Amino acid sequence: MLAPAASTPRPRPDGQAPTLDELVRAAGISLDPEHLDRLKRYRDLLFKQNQSTNLTAVRDLPSIERRLILESFRLIAPLRALPIINDVRPQSLIDIGTGGGLPGMVLAIACPDLNVFLLDATGKKVAFLDLAIGELGLGNVVTIHARAEEIGHRPRFRDGFDVVTARAVSSLPALFELGLPLLRVGGSLLLPKGVDIAEELAAADRAAEILGGKIVDTGMLPDLGSTIVTRLVVVRKMIATPSAYPRRAGIPARSPLGSNRIGQATS
Ligand code: SAH
Repeated sequence: MLAPAASTPRPRPDGQAPTLDELVRAAGISLDPEHLDRLKRYRDLLFKQNQSTNLTAVRDLPSIERRLILESFRLIAPLRALPIINDVRPQSLIDIGTGGGLPGMVLAIACPDLNVFLLDATGKKVAFLDLAIGELGLGNVVTIHARAEEIGHRPRFRDGFDVVTARAVSSLPALFELGLPLLRVGGSLLLPKGVDIAEELAAADRAAEILGGKIVDTGMLPDLGSTIVTRLVVVRKMIATPSAYPRRAGIPARSPLGSNRIGQATS
């Protein structure tokens, strides 16, 4: 998997923690000053609003920078390395369960050529994202306030996206069921996961097959200074997902496909 050259940021002479500029540079990400400025404003908005609204469990600024922002940056290289679909580079991405905008908002700021859709079922999170999009003047991002199970059946969204991401939302089989219906054939799910996913993977292969997908990678992501060890599960949509999926709200997580506990969709 392609990865930008990354290095550990050198300690500052004043003994302070590295700034966001330094972290971004050390991660090998090159951002225009304008985009870096947007990223800082987003970080500040998320930090501030998170004091009064529960947007993320990550509360302090250094952790927001490393654990949320840098971790989201780790998806850029795999995103750029995705195959071309029908002669066109992947250009639309939906982030399922984006919460405060992770990783979707960071990817939208860093990749202005990408059309990003931020999906979340929780109104106050979507309200924050709408506010942030307005404050930052981002023209390549929109929010969707809905459940993935619901929009997966809307003609406007089904088969509509080149890439689906989801971070810290659900198990692999459930994410496959929520994400694969939204992808066009040839598109990819990019799912960052913890290191220990053996149990989830056991059911995941079968789930992918039922849904028209195939797991093509489960490798480690380059660290980029985020201090978290993460795998990236990449799933390619090979054929159309059967129309019975996704099942009703809550079922994909409660009765994950591919495990012994469940049956397949009933008609
Ligand atoms: N991705 C963010 C938020 C993780 S918390 C981060 O990494 O910080 C999980 C989020 O997923 C919550 O905001 C919740 O509202 C949303 N969510 C869970 N299930 C969902 C579904 N089926 N459809 C849409 N959003 C969902």
